[in-house]
Amino acid sequence: MEKIKMTTPLVEMDGDEMTRILWGLIKDKLILPFVDLKTEYYDLGLLNRNATRDQVTVDAARAAKRLGVAVKCATITPNRQRMEEYPELTEMWKSPNGTIRAILDGTAFRCPIVLPCVKPVVKNWEKPITIARHAYGDMYKAVDMTTEEPGTAVLTFKGESGAEKALNVQTVDGPAVWQGQHNKEASIRAFARSCFQYALAQKQDLWFSAKDTIAKVYDGEFKRIFEEEYESSYKAEFETLGLAYFYTLIDDAVARCVRSKGGFIWALKNYDGDVMSDMVAAAFGSLAMMTSVLVSPDGTMEFEASHGTVTRHYYRYLQGEKTSTNPMATLFAWSGALKRRGELDNLPDLIRFGQRLEDAALGTLKDGVMTKDLLPLTEPGFPARGVGSEEFLDAIAARL
Ligand code: NAP
Ligand code: MG
Repeated sequence: MEKIKMTTPLVEMDGDEMTRILWGLIKDKLILPFVDLKTEYYDLGLLNRNATRDQVTVDAARAAKRLGVAVKCATITPNRQRMEEYPELTEMWKSPNGTIRAILDGTAFRCPIVLPCVKPVVKNWEKPITIARHAYGDMYKAVDMTTEEPGTAVLTFKGESGAEKALNVQTVDGPAVWQGQHNKEASIRAFARSCFQYALAQKQDLWFSAKDTIAKVYDGEFKRIFEEEYESSYKAEFETLGLAYFYTLIDDAVARCVRSKGGFIWALKNYDGDVMSDMVAAAFGSLAMMTSVLVSPDGTMEFEASHGTVTRHYYRYLQGEKTSTNPMATLFAWSGALKRRGELDNLPDLIRFGQRLEDAALGTLKDGVMTKDLLPLTEPGFPARGVGSEEFLDAIAARL
């Protein structure tokens, strides 16, 4: 077969441990035989981040901004234990995902891969629910304090111009606890744009929820900015595609979500997203089946798995053991990136290939060939056979 051509490269960010092993296998068995793959390669493995003083992460993120599409392997975020494990580390390097997110000013969208033989806990969910969590501010950048005596707290803003604005927070008659939080208009707007961009790319409805009946000014500002962006920049395209954007209160959204069939994108404030993403992930099944896309307001997309480098499996692999690590989320990161590249460059063959790769992987699972993490999640009586990672990828390759 003649290999499928690409015109523009995509950014390839290699990573660490077991996912780095899967990365190589996915490329060798499933992509390189079929696609004349063009990538700009950045090695974000911990040792190369150390050798480049983390410059490679910055370069990779800038390349993603320039080329518009990236695929990233899971990477180690060093902690104290890793500093002992890798004595050559000169610094406790920051999370690459944090660095990349800051440069792309992006929002992460997490979406489960759904299988007929693994029923979500919520039985009416037929299609995946994608969660978009705002990743800046509110409680996560708040200051807190306790006070011991009766008194009054005042919230004061001092402008650079010298102008001041002040509000009484509360007068209390005894010990109390306080919190000051903020968000930035630019961050909320970037979040809103990423959500509208991704909804259009996925051709799915977008929900946004907050609590503006109580936090009239704070959450009201989020609601207003989303509406403003929708009306001024996205409404026409949403209507052409028959998509809906709607705002509803967070409690109403939770109730509707549980009753829904799925198949939409749910944008949430930082804390709400923290809570609801774990709820949705757990209800759909397995961390190994969660994909993640970082979307910047200009439409740049970086695809990855939600899980980490699967360290425990890697140590077994190093001892020569065959592991049964699930490659699905990493594989879908690749197929997602290839499809996006195809869309941007108008390459229908590349889009079709990405789709067929996903179909082959899903078909293999539907036939009951799967990694061992999925076995306990399948419906009773489903004839499943647990295999190693390599055998699983070979079965996908045969089908592809
Ligand atoms: P993890 O790599 O996600 O693995 C936690 C456990 O979840 C595994 O031990 C395994 O359970 C199960 N699991 C996760 N992915 C799986 C897969 N594909 N197939 C089968 N089982 C899977 O989390 P971690 O062990 O807490 O973190 C390891 C490293 O990853 C850390 O250095 C962390 O910094 C990094 N990390 C990176 C990212 C990222 O780059 N986006 C995200 C999170 C963590 P069993 O062992 O029970 O089989
Ligand atoms: Mg959480």
